[in-house]
Amino acid sequence: MIDIRRITAYQQATKAIQEVSLTIEDGERVAILGPNGSGKSTLLKVLSRDIYPVDTPDSYVRVFDEETVIWEFKSKIGIVSQDLQEDYTPYTTALDVVTSGFFGAIGAHDHLQPTSKHRQLAEEMLDRVGMTPLAQRMFQRLSTGQKRRLLIARAMVNHPKALILDEPSAGLDIGASTTLLNLLRQYCSGNHSMIIATHHIDEIIPEIERVVLLKEGRVVADGPKGAILTGP
Ligand code: ADP
Ligand code: ADP
Repeated sequence: MIDIRRITAYQQATKAIQEVSLTIEDGERVAILGPNGSGKSTLLKVLSRDIYPVDTPDSYVRVFDEETVIWEFKSKIGIVSQDLQEDYTPYTTALDVVTSGFFGAIGAHDHLQPTSKHRQLAEEMLDRVGMTPLAQRMFQRLSTGQKRRLLIARAMVNHPKALILDEPSAGLDIGASTTLLNLLRQYCSGNHSMIIATHHIDEIIPEIERVVLLKEGRVVADGPKGAILTGP
């Protein structure tokens, strides 16, 4: 489902990721681990088609099929990036943000209007992340933790085939982290893929099968979690 070969990112002399190859099958659940600056975010941005790698003759990125247009792609894959700076208008409400998850990247599909069914499902999703009381609050006026919960709800509302999450529990308090973990558990009980970069690996470990370890932009270990993670 996801297949990248010899991917290098950023043109600068120091590369964020260098010649990274990775194949992730349908339904696989993978944690991307490594110290700060090892290239986790960059790798996830490549998979999310947020950035384009250095173009070399023997490199490629294949996610689903090549023909998938970008907004369609973004509604098949739920993406929670670390960046909370979303370019929503000042009038975009929390509920609008979750509803936009049905249409991939907002802006590219202004001709698509949400139906009442979309809104109803978005309201249910909003409830699952404990944000119902803030449904009509403007996105830009929410706290960091509230924004993150909303972006997680947006990523999950359309039941994507794969979820890509970059430090999803950053900025969440204990209660919100627990809610997130429960959501991810439910999501993983279906035949869905998950690719998650996290420093809180102990919490998510029961849900994942495979660990990819990055160091200085290169994959230094890749295999079943039991083989990679040692100790408590
Ligand atoms: P991690 O997520 O593991 O902390 P990142 O992927 O964020 O690592 O960063 C890896 C390296 O890439 C860092 O040295 C960072 O400074 C660099 N980097 C991040 N974004 C860019 C960019 N837009 N252009 C060039 N280098 C970048
Ligand atoms: P984090 O540690 O939270 O992942 P980073 O410091 O890696 O944050 O990146 C913060 C932002 O700055 C990102 O949007 C990244 O693309 C950009 N950035 C980071 N390092 C560089 C760099 N060396 N050159 C250009 N942009 C960078």
